[in-house]
Amino acid sequence: SNQLRFQVVEEAFKKKAVEVKTPAERPSEYFGKYVFTREKMYKYLPITVYNKLIDVIDNGARLDRSIADEVAEGMKKWAQEMGATHYTHWFQPLTEGTAEKHDAFVEHDGKGGMVENFSGKLLVQQEPDASSFPNGGIRNTFEARGYSAWDPTSPVFIIDDTLCIPTIFIAYTGEALDYKAPLLRSLHAVNKAATDVCQYFYNDVAKVQVNLGWEQEYFLVDEGLYSARPDLMLTGRTLMGHESAKNQQMDDHYFGTIPDRVQAFMKDLEIQALELAIPCKTRHNEVAPNQFELAPIFEECNLAVDHNMLLMSLMKKVARKHGFRVLLHEKPFDGINGSGKHNNWSLSTDSGVLLHAPGKTPEENLRFVTFIVETLMGVYKHNGLLKASIVSATNAHRLGGNEAPPAIISSFLGKQLTELLDHIELSDKDDLFTIKGKQGMEIDIPQIPDLIIDNTDRNRTSPFAFTGNRFEFRAPGSSSNCASAMIALNSAVAEALQNFKHRVDKRIAKGESKLSAIVDILREDIKTCKPIRFDGNGYSDEWVAEAAKRGLDVEKSTPKIIEHYLDKDSVKMFESVKVMNRKELEARNEVKWETYVKTVQIEARVMGDLSMNHIIPVSTHYQSQLIKNVQGMKDVFAKAEAERLSARNMKLIKEIAERTERIEQLVDDLTEARRVANRIYNIHERAMSYHDTVCPKMDAIRYEIDHLEMIVEDGLWSLPKYRELLFIR
Ligand code: ADP
Ligand code: MG
Repeated sequence: SNQLRFQVVEEAFKKKAVEVKTPAERPSEYFGKYVFTREKMYKYLPITVYNKLIDVIDNGARLDRSIADEVAEGMKKWAQEMGATHYTHWFQPLTEGTAEKHDAFVEHDGKGGMVENFSGKLLVQQEPDASSFPNGGIRNTFEARGYSAWDPTSPVFIIDDTLCIPTIFIAYTGEALDYKAPLLRSLHAVNKAATDVCQYFYNDVAKVQVNLGWEQEYFLVDEGLYSARPDLMLTGRTLMGHESAKNQQMDDHYFGTIPDRVQAFMKDLEIQALELAIPCKTRHNEVAPNQFELAPIFEECNLAVDHNMLLMSLMKKVARKHGFRVLLHEKPFDGINGSGKHNNWSLSTDSGVLLHAPGKTPEENLRFVTFIVETLMGVYKHNGLLKASIVSATNAHRLGGNEAPPAIISSFLGKQLTELLDHIELSDKDDLFTIKGKQGMEIDIPQIPDLIIDNTDRNRTSPFAFTGNRFEFRAPGSSSNCASAMIALNSAVAEALQNFKHRVDKRIAKGESKLSAIVDILREDIKTCKPIRFDGNGYSDEWVAEAAKRGLDVEKSTPKIIEHYLDKDSVKMFESVKVMNRKELEARNEVKWETYVKTVQIEARVMGDLSMNHIIPVSTHYQSQLIKNVQGMKDVFAKAEAERLSARNMKLIKEIAERTERIEQLVDDLTEARRVANRIYNIHERAMSYHDTVCPKMDAIRYEIDHLEMIVEDGLWSLPKYRELLFIR
């Protein structure tokens, strides 16, 4: 068994970088090569059809079913010219990945021949046989089947031989069964609410777009080493493994092949991502060994989400070509940094104004302050919900660790913005307004230096930090669908903006001037949402106590945090902005709890198996060798001397006996805890039981195993060690 470990280590050292050909064209030429871009729509569609489609994409016009056939025809023509033979509706079920069902463009014509078949009907709507996707009971309750419907705002693309059509996935009764449907609704809600508020400041704003620039962190592990770790293969993380004594291991050996193999992977990935119009600018910062990051230029949120989903599957594919496995798990290795997915989020208008960026005039800065403060209002009011939108069984291992944001949502604003908000809060009207001749009243918001844009005043511990012209939501996990966080954030901010407008309008109706009404409401809101602002050390224990005092959610248990989706305020908010109704929220929570249970269940099984099949046998084997040695010593030395010389081995023999005994007992307890939990019918309570009784036992088992790893002879240990997983590349 131990042979596998040494064999894969040896092979990993010998691996050479896979050669990646640099395309003959420039990146600007192959960018979007496999995407049905506007340029291609123009080329492949009749002009009237093209115009109607662009109206749907840009202005949210209703899709005219009469153009669907011609659009499908044009798409098919392009796709076939590119070598595609199949098409699929590509959607994002609640399992976090993407799903697709491929159909060929050709069908039997019933007369022994084939006909090409891809109609508007097949483009627009399909009924995937997707009964196995989680739906939280929606489809059983309503006996409704799910169907996928084309999202024309995200362009179709080709992967291998298949034309992929981004779609939403919903029940016939209209309930969302995926991430995209509520995401689109939330984008619509912010657009409406923010456009309305923009009217106070501009008269040429017709549309507000949400921008998302994600940063994807990930680990690479050599494929051979990965295959010798059943826990990595089955759960995505190492369930055991003692920290590597890094510095001792960093000899030339380890570094010899680094740049080549990883760089080849990155180059390959970048080329393929650009061909799919994912605007990446790769960087590889190694916070942890073998950990990397990829960030694109920000895009419209719906497109950015699709691109992230696409990139994650692309990464997995490209990694294998280069003899790696990519780990998207939030915490594959204990004791070193985990992986997140920072969501850089902002709003901008169709007239080109970045609403979260300061402007050049006092009035524009009032607009800036408005959008900052109302964003904070949404985040403050729904801080528990926002946390619920990013938690999972896997992200739980990362949050609250000393490298990731804590499991408390708060916002860091930096010195300048803090001072500005304090100034507005504390000033009276006379301080803020000046009467200026004919123009009447003017607002005197202090000029904000351009410097704020390059805000390097970063607080890495903050889960929701202002970074100059956007907020950076750092709590989402590396494996998650960005949409989950974006749905909650967009909806919460849409509600806050609606509320803001409602209150300002009421004052204006009573005769107050517009600027004065805005400032009054903002001053009120700055006070209200103050508890969410925190610029200190998020890792400290004092912060947990302080946050609780401020009324922020400090809960750590994932299944409990998920409850926030069903808080009275959450349901009211989601329903009022028309993003999700109670039924959908309840169904989604069922899925979340079920996913939680399944994840922990699999981990617990793997933990039990590895303990019994690897850890205990290997440790006992080593123990037998020690026992033999102790017995042998008695033959060679006099009794007293033999005992003295064998003291250390005796200690180890005892330690191994005690630890393996405890492991056996804990594995029994673990199985029993699972059995008890599995008998709980209510999925929410079952998830809580898994959290409260199963998880702690896994930690206890790991503790014993990691200590055994330190004392058992290295040559016998069968699982690749951290130093091998982390430094061989
Ligand atoms: P870091 O936060 O690590 O310094 P970058 O400055 O490179 O990273 O930016 C991270 C991401 O933020 C990128 O995807 C970038 O395109 C995106 N971004 C920059 N400005 C905005 C904005 N106004 N709105 C949304 N995303 C933005
Ligand atoms: Mg960042």
